[in-house]
Amino acid sequence: AKNLGKNRYSLYTSDLLEGAKDEYRLETDLRKAVEQEEFVLHYQPQINPHTGKIFGVEALIRWQHPTLGLLSPDKFIKLAEDNGLINQIGKWVIKEACSQNKRWQDANYQPLKVSVNLSTQQFLTNDLVTYMENTLRETGLDPQYLVVEITEYMAMEYEYSLKVLKQLKKIGIGISIDDFGTGYSSLAYLNNFPIDFIKIDKSFVFEIVNDQPSAFIVKAIITLAHNLQMQVIAEGVETEEQLDFLINQQCDLVQGFHFSKPLSATEIEKTYLLCKNN
Ligand code: C2E
Ligand code: CA
Ligand code: CA
Ligand code: CA
Repeated sequence: AKNLGKNRYSLYTSDLLEGAKDEYRLETDLRKAVEQEEFVLHYQPQINPHTGKIFGVEALIRWQHPTLGLLSPDKFIKLAEDNGLINQIGKWVIKEACSQNKRWQDANYQPLKVSVNLSTQQFLTNDLVTYMENTLRETGLDPQYLVVEITEYMAMEYEYSLKVLKQLKKIGIGISIDDFGTGYSSLAYLNNFPIDFIKIDKSFVFEIVNDQPSAFIVKAIITLAHNLQMQVIAEGVETEEQLDFLINQQCDLVQGFHFSKPLSATEIEKTYLLCKNN
């Protein structure tokens, strides 16, 4: 038993060391990935549940790692935020999403809004607005087809965020509050910030059928948003029951595995754009 204990201990320490080495390797790899643009965007459809039509897509980043395969953002976004690479990665995301959406429009598919996720750090860098303006001009995408998803954390920098959001709004870019209800901010910003969409976090959506408090929260968010002239997007819709509930509550848009997981640009074309309206 003693021996086993000792083996376990050494296994444990070597695991820890491996973990630290992995982290270090991943950071080195991530720097290379930024230079060599080893990223790809997948797109998850946002559906109007009242008509069944596609309204837009959310761009979600993946990293095509040379040996580890396709890595999800949970594996590297936090790391990128810690070492500052998030700004470069975020710029690539904006450019790629705008270019892709413009390609779809040039192919005469029905127009879609493309949403991109901005990390709070990226949102707070001073060249964001200029970069977005330049990228829209370079790609030729009409700003009304671009939406940024930000979280409630940006409201901590109240005055600065208000200024940036007004600038984005003036350009014609849509503004969406992601993971609504999970941050630690007050609701005061909802009055003054030019917000177009509120996204109900999937943790609430998962529980709407089984858990009364979650159902109440979702109803309240929808009422609140509609009274403020904002549209509501429910994320993480996985079942018919959840969908029925959201339709009954007049939720404007839905997104989730019940309809589709995030897809490559080609899969979006095949499944949603070819043969529909065109
Ligand atoms: P998020 O913005 O809340 O994105 C929604 C996540 O939920 C996505 O995970 C999506 O695949 C997943 N999802 C969608 N429908 C369902 C469903 O029905 N059930 C379940 N269980 N999950 C669903 P993903 O792609 O792994 O992204 C995770 C997070 O990484 C995102 O959460 C976002 O915070 C971040 N992220 C993704 N792309 C970017 C990016 O380009 N920039 C930044 N800064 N963050 C990104
Ligand atoms: Ca999002
Ligand atoms: Ca979200
Ligand atoms: Ca989330």
